[in-house]
Amino acid sequence: MTLLCERCYGPVDPTTDRYYRLAHIDHSDAAGNVAWRHAVVHVDACPAAGSVTPAEQRGRAA
Ligand SMILES: [Zn+2]
Repeated sequence: MTLLCERCYGPVDPTTDRYYRLAHIDHSDAAGNVAWRHAVVHVDACPAAGSVTPAEQRGRAA
């Protein structure tokens, strides 16, 4: 599974990139059970969204 950064939409390589894992509440059902959506975001500053292609980003992280 490919992880995508929630901030810059670039790929996150779990083996080489430093990233935070976030959990957002999606919704709850009538019984009060919460459905979560999980996301990741780079620890280091991200380039502006759309300004770097995935291939360029991979080169930057290497
Ligand atoms: Zn990012």
